[in-house]
Amino acid sequence: MQPYTPGEQLAPGKTIKLNTNENPYPPSEAVVAAIQHAAAGALNRYPDPVATVFRRAAAESLGLPGPEWVLAGNGSDEILTILVRGFVGENQKLRLPYPSYILYRTLADIQGAAWEQISFDDDWQLPAAFGVTPDDVRLVFLPNPNSPSGTVLLPEQVESLASTMTCPLVVDEAYADFAGANCIDLVKKHENILVTRTLSKSYGLAGLRFGFLVAQPHVVKELAKIKDSYNCDMLSIAAATAAISGQQWLADVVQKMNATRDQMTIGLSKMGFDVTPSKANFVWCTHPSGQHQAIYEFLKKNQILVRYMQFPDWGDGLRISVGTDDQIDALFIMLESYLRNV
Ligand SMILES: *Cc1c(COP(=O)(O)O)cnc(C)c1O
Repeated sequence: MQPYTPGEQLAPGKTIKLNTNENPYPPSEAVVAAIQHAAAGALNRYPDPVATVFRRAAAESLGLPGPEWVLAGNGSDEILTILVRGFVGENQKLRLPYPSYILYRTLADIQGAAWEQISFDDDWQLPAAFGVTPDDVRLVFLPNPNSPSGTVLLPEQVESLASTMTCPLVVDEAYADFAGANCIDLVKKHENILVTRTLSKSYGLAGLRFGFLVAQPHVVKELAKIKDSYNCDMLSIAAATAAISGQQWLADVVQKMNATRDQMTIGLSKMGFDVTPSKANFVWCTHPSGQHQAIYEFLKKNQILVRYMQFPDWGDGLRISVGTDDQIDALFIMLESYLRNV
């Protein structure tokens, strides 16, 4: 099988890292204090297998009826694994839009399942056929906002697509905190709409590994049967609980990053890039010169890492994560110096 290739992680140092959509800001002090407190506690004991304190805090912060609506995982990637393992058997199918998050296909491959892709149109909308599922399609993934585009479908569009599906629709909301809208309320109304979230992006905790699912209690109960018994450790449960309880910290950091994203969009457009309007913490851009790979390599040589992506039968371009304002200034200086010679 083809392996999934994650974005490059260089040794920490001078590199400006804009390639894997991490938060450029560290997590809140409350999160660090919670880890220190947990580390001084009972690490000789196993953690709570179902992360009850986290699930309670998440239900409270997200306005859910209770912790039984939440399943905690070792990163939302583990939640996605559990979903594919639970719903898509051998020779059954996973559906996903194209281009989107490449990991989904790997998860289907691991299960011996098939996958099929349905392309976004030129405006990053999906055809109604995306919501029409034959018997062998057992699960549909929809990253919203999507990666690499940063574009969103509105909750009413998601609801309409799900209404014609005969299987669950997983709305992967890894970037929803940056979008100002999400599908959590739809989960309350429809048992076939499931939402996944991560603490890796907006909460600045990619190094921690924590994500979760929001679904109706009977769905959570069944999926919990197939997770690893101790899938989240004591330190990450403590940190994630502190993080999800810090909604003001989140609002502040999101506001700051969205302002930087808007500056990136303006700046890149001025340099001649075609920038897709983004609701996430990254932007997708192409340049009329078509020299995306060369730009990526030039930036890398100058210690700025962005993501060069190539999608067969679709095209290539650069996905650039939102950094601090200083990092984006440095990026712009390098891009201008490259483009002067194009
Ligand atoms: C980053 C990302 C994830 C993975 O999140 P983790 O919690 O770090 O595993 C899931 N889905 C999408 C679309 C992502 O971009």
